Amino acid sequence: MAATLVILDRDGVINEDSKDYVKSADEWIPLPGSLEAIAHLNALGFTVAVASNQSGLARGYFDRQTLRSMHRKFRRLLGAVDGHVDRIEVCPHGPDDDCSCRKPKPGLIRRLIRRFDAEPDDVIVIGDSLRDLEAAAAAGARAVLVRTGNGRETEKQLSGSLAGTPVYDDLAQAARALSEN
Ligand SMILES: [Mg+2]
Ligand SMILES: [Zn+2]
Repeated sequence: MAATLVILDRDGVINEDSKDYVKSADEWIPLPGSLEAIAHLNALGFTVAVASNQSGLARGYFDRQTLRSMHRKFRRLLGAVDGHVDRIEVCPHGPDDDCSCRKPKPGLIRRLIRRFDAEPDDVIVIGDSLRDLEAAAAAGARAVLVRTGNGRETEKQLSGSLAGTPVYDDLAQAARALSEN
C-alpha cells in the first residue's frame, strides 16, 4: 500500500463523540490509544491530517476560539506521546449552508489532497460515519471504517460500493493494519 497521506475524522475516531456536540476543551477527550495510533502513523512515515465537520460553529454552540483551544489540547496531548498532525481542516458550516466542504461532500478532503500534493489513490481516509466514507469515495481516496464513535452503526449500513470497506475496531488497529501493508 503506497499511501502517503492519512486523513482522520475527528469526533468518534480520535476523541469521544457526543450527541450534544463536543463544545469545549474539557469535553475533548481522546479515545483510548488514539493518540498513540497517530504517533505510530507518524513513525511509519505517513503525513497525518484531520478533516472534521464542526457544524457546532454554525449552530453557535461554540466559537472559533473554543475550537482552537480544543485543538491546542489535542496537539499538546498528542505531542506528549511524540505524535503530530500536519493540518486540521474544519467545515464550520451547517447542513443548510450548502457549502462544498461539509462531508459527505469531498471539499475538505480535496483541500488536503491538494495541500500535500498527494495522489487521491494514495490517500486513506479513516472515519466512523457513512459521510466520511462517502466523502473519501467522492474525492477518489480510499476509505477505512473504525468501530469507535458511530462506527458499529455505520458498519451495518455498508452497502453498494462501500460494502468492501475495511473495518477495524479502532484507530490503533487500523494503524497496525497499515503498518503490515
Ligand atoms: Mg465522526
Ligand atoms: Zn463547509
